[in-house]
Amino acid sequence: MKALKCRECGREYPLTATHVCEFDFGPLEVVYDYDRIKKSLTRTAIQSRPHSMWRYRELLPVANDPTVGLQVGFTPLVKADRLAKKLGIRELWIKNDTVNYPTLSFKDRVVSVALSRARELGFDTVACASTGNLANSVAANAASAGLKAYVFIPSDLEQGKIINSLVYGANVIGIKGHYDEVNRLCAEIAGKFGWAFVNVNMRPYYAEGSKSMAYEIAEQLGWRLPRHTVVPMASGSLLTKIQKGYQEFVKLGLVSESETSIHGAQATGCSPISTAQKAGLDFFRPVKPDTIAKSLAIGTPADGFYALKVMKDTGAAADDVTDDEIRDAIKLLAETEGIFAETAGGVTVGVAQKLIASGKIPRNDSAVLCVTGNGLKTLDAVAGHVGKPREIKPSLREFEALLAHEEKVNV
Ligand SMILES: *Cc1c(COP(=O)(O)O)cnc(C)c1O
Repeated sequence: MKALKCRECGREYPLTATHVCEFDFGPLEVVYDYDRIKKSLTRTAIQSRPHSMWRYRELLPVANDPTVGLQVGFTPLVKADRLAKKLGIRELWIKNDTVNYPTLSFKDRVVSVALSRARELGFDTVACASTGNLANSVAANAASAGLKAYVFIPSDLEQGKIINSLVYGANVIGIKGHYDEVNRLCAEIAGKFGWAFVNVNMRPYYAEGSKSMAYEIAEQLGWRLPRHTVVPMASGSLLTKIQKGYQEFVKLGLVSESETSIHGAQATGCSPISTAQKAGLDFFRPVKPDTIAKSLAIGTPADGFYALKVMKDTGAAADDVTDDEIRDAIKLLAETEGIFAETAGGVTVGVAQKLIASGKIPRNDSAVLCVTGNGLKTLDAVAGHVGKPREIKPSLREFEALLAHEEKVNV
């Protein structure tokens, strides 16, 4: 990595814990020396390295060897033939981050980068503003790295997300308000305390971790870019970084250039970006979230503007799904592919279904769906919608009676 650079005016900054341009408040982004990277980062070199996101380490913003989250990434890319048939598309893949290590969501990617970099910069306390998964990942990775952690969450999160932060001994602070209020408070705290806030002052480094999902997809497809990728959007950061990752692989000659559209998925109850995209606007209007997809419930998305631009530039679309459609999509993915995703995964699958039905993703094409979190953490969202076990006494006669009864009902 060479420097931090303002996305708006291009001014460069040293590689410290800072995230906005002092002149125009534009977001800062990490820039790299691609000529130099090209010499060491070949397909052969990558393939000889361990199966983790760090096999692409030249493209991740750490100065030395990473020290946190060495096992993160290289999750399965699953060929989803049964789901493809249901959705009516020729070829479909699931990038399955429900089994990411150690906290079962894509956030382990961004956190391993942010905490490795935070250590390089000499921090002993890390923190975050989170919709749930980020808090889980900061708590777990800080524990294993021996760092102190403060995680700030909306107080009405799912039990699974709260317990998955508390268990690691992190300081968990529940804020009585929406994520956008949590985030505003954290910006104030970050200015006052000398902590590494992974998605505030460390955001330029943190956000780069998302690119690893794009690298893995391209490598696992046999060194090519997918024609379509469907990505869930909260702040919109992951979607923009998937594009940056694909573009970097083209620039380094690791894949050849090809048409690739990066579509965005939101929940109807928090859809500032997809609503703007569907209306053909370059700017979004902030909203107050009301959805079961709490991990995506950001009403004022920090990267919404850039996500809209990526979709426009790649000829992509966005759409959104209701709470009922999210639950149906979670069940559809589970029943066809044996993958239990959290609500954000339901959003991705549900929106992909809509984009295929409307022809925005043509039926004869191939698509990758980014499934970013595990269903075991959002059990509340599907409880009461998946039926109940049928209970009997431990007796063969009762079991046979139950089967006979069901046969009668099913005739
Ligand atoms: C955070 C998160 C996302 C996307 O986040 P962005 O802010 O858009 O990068 C997607 N899925 C899950 C499960 C998440 O926790």
